[in-house]
Amino acid sequence: MYVAETFCSLQGEGSLVGVPSFFIRTSGCALRCRWCDTAYASFQPEGTTRSVAELVAEARASGPGHVVLTGGEPLVQRDIGALTHSLRQAGLHVTVETAGVAAPEMECDLLSVSPKTSSSDPDGAWRGRHQRRRADLGPLRSLLARFGEHQVKLVIQQASDLDEVLELLKRIGPVAPERVLLMPEGASAAEVAARAPMVAALCLEHGFRYTPRLHLDLFGEGRGV
Ligand code: SF4
Repeated sequence: MYVAETFCSLQGEGSLVGVPSFFIRTSGCALRCRWCDTAYASFQPEGTTRSVAELVAEARASGPGHVVLTGGEPLVQRDIGALTHSLRQAGLHVTVETAGVAAPEMECDLLSVSPKTSSSDPDGAWRGRHQRRRADLGPLRSLLARFGEHQVKLVIQQASDLDEVLELLKRIGPVAPERVLLMPEGASAAEVAARAPMVAALCLEHGFRYTPRLHLDLFGEGRGV
């Protein structure tokens, strides 16, 4: 596995927000989102090669019973199936955070999928490839069908993003509204706070859940949080 960092923190987003967790941030991604805040795990991947056995041993020794695989994009890592299987065999709760652009064999207790909309499209040479990959909903549908315990997190920059979100949800199939989480875009707590009322209003209007970005509130920007 190519891994950018491992650390313990509180889960900052989604239905397990606030739960102490051991994070494994894999390095490398199939997308190039305009607002990506982990360039060191996507655009300019950094890290070290770690074995499955090493990562499982570190997770077990870390303390929390929850492990979050995030990135980058964990599902493009060759050993993701072996890692998720071994973590669960060790009795750990496994959340996989993914953009849903790949659907390899793997295991998890919570699939946290964050499909991307046009607000993520970058300028430049990667634009076409990014758009084609995010528009291919086959892997996303496969993941949602396989993992009943799932949440769909969608980044909102402005209220008009919601039309595209509703269309996307229609295309990927029925997703229970309580499993849809809207999340304000922002690289800092101040940017998230500025969009929070608008996103909260959309949640109330459509019956979706709101997810904060707790790690930004508690620990600010930067690595290892
Ligand atoms: S999918 Fe995630 S890690 Fe990859 S470029 Fe987009 S925001 Fe960054």
